[in-house]
Amino acid sequence: MSHHQILIVGGGTAGITVAARLRKADPSLDIAVIEPSEKHYYQPLWTLVGGGIFKPGDSARNEVDVMPRGVKWIQDAVANFSPAEKQLTTRNGETIAYEYLVVCPGIQINWDKIKGLKEAVGHDGVCSNYSIQTVGSTWKFIQTLKEGTALFTQPAGAVKCGGAPQKICYLAEDYFRQAGVRDRINVIFTAAGPRLFAVDEYRKELEKVAARKGVDTRFLHNLVEVRAKSKEAIYQHMDTNEEMVIQYDMIHVTPPMSAPDFVANSPLASEAGWVDVDKHSLQHIRFANVFSLGDASSLPTSKTGAAIRKQAPVLVKNLLAEMASQPLTGRYDGYTSCPVVTGYDSLILAEFDYSGKPAETFPFDQGKERFSMLMLKKFGLPALYWYGMLKGRA
Ligand SMILES: Cc1cc2nc3c(=O)[nH]c(=O)nc-3n(C[C@H](O)[C@H](O)[C@H](O)COP(=O)(O)OP(=O)(O)OC[C@H]3O[C@@H](n4cnc5c(N)ncnc54)[C@H](O)[C@@H]3O)c2cc1C
Repeated sequence: MSHHQILIVGGGTAGITVAARLRKADPSLDIAVIEPSEKHYYQPLWTLVGGGIFKPGDSARNEVDVMPRGVKWIQDAVANFSPAEKQLTTRNGETIAYEYLVVCPGIQINWDKIKGLKEAVGHDGVCSNYSIQTVGSTWKFIQTLKEGTALFTQPAGAVKCGGAPQKICYLAEDYFRQAGVRDRINVIFTAAGPRLFAVDEYRKELEKVAARKGVDTRFLHNLVEVRAKSKEAIYQHMDTNEEMVIQYDMIHVTPPMSAPDFVANSPLASEAGWVDVDKHSLQHIRFANVFSLGDASSLPTSKTGAAIRKQAPVLVKNLLAEMASQPLTGRYDGYTSCPVVTGYDSLILAEFDYSGKPAETFPFDQGKERFSMLMLKKFGLPALYWYGMLKGRA
């Protein structure tokens, strides 16, 4: 059985950021990352890939190239946790022991929760920005639509970056306008929830954006089936369960998401399935040597990479304190950020904390649409990601 002082589950945004910060804090630490994928993706770029601004490959790097020097990469996937024994088993059947564990395998995309979606996505006008395999189809279908209905959906429950389902709707609307076909296309945005955005200050502005663009917004619409042959989207009303049908010519689906099954079925899970951590210290509620951050954690904030940027230093500080038997003084305030792209030249940079109050970085009203903030998303944030966050510097 192999053994590591610190074992990190998942080499995505959270796992690599934490590994890099730990190595910087103490190069003598024995750290391993368990990550099955050959590739690491900067997923926030997928919105812009779907809108035709970047190519899918622009979001990818080889996992080996983002792994911090001195950190061991175990190319495998975790299957089961045994936290009482301080060990886990992998899909290849290996048992690995650890002293401290950081759990960050991301969120699970449940394509099969919508009947017909798995078979249809990527073909016949059905697309989604939520995987590297299908994000290219979004741009293909936006470009080729000349008339009819373009439909955009948001499911019930947590998704990566709560504003992302809207972003692609606004980009598509802008593209149709520039291509001279907007007056022949009906743009509909449906959400299973009751409103466009959780934070009131930004919601009001986004409602104005949707109204100005003539986007037909429909709430409490929960997508349950895609009938690709007849191009029908079947919904259930969230309150009345009434069935509703919308005919489409292209549909961008944001699939339902949940905690990964192997986390939800483990002793590490909260009632809702996420890794059960204290919302300020990021330490597990029942196992003091376990920490979690990012999309797989129970932290009650919008699931974004920007949130991880603020969680990672807190986690590292508290993990090192736990190792030294010191009090945990690091405290995460729930900060998250969602850059809501509203067109090819505008963006609202929503930033807020656990209290739902804006927690803005810049000395101007970020609730307004701005070209400068779009430039930040296109060029500034990717650079910050690859050269700052993943290197443990920002
Ligand atoms: C379309 C889209 C737009 C977005 N827009 C934004 C945005 O504008 N701003 C923003 O900040 N965030 C945005 N996000 C969200 C952001 O990408 C995620 O919040 C972030 O990547 C979460 O990081 P993570 O490390 O928790 O999970 P991930 O980065 O998804 O990494 C999880 C890793 O765990 C690995 N893994 C899975 N199962 C196992 C297993 N069994 N064992 C070991 N490893 C496993 C996976 O292979 C993966 O590499 C967007 C996401 C999408 C999809």
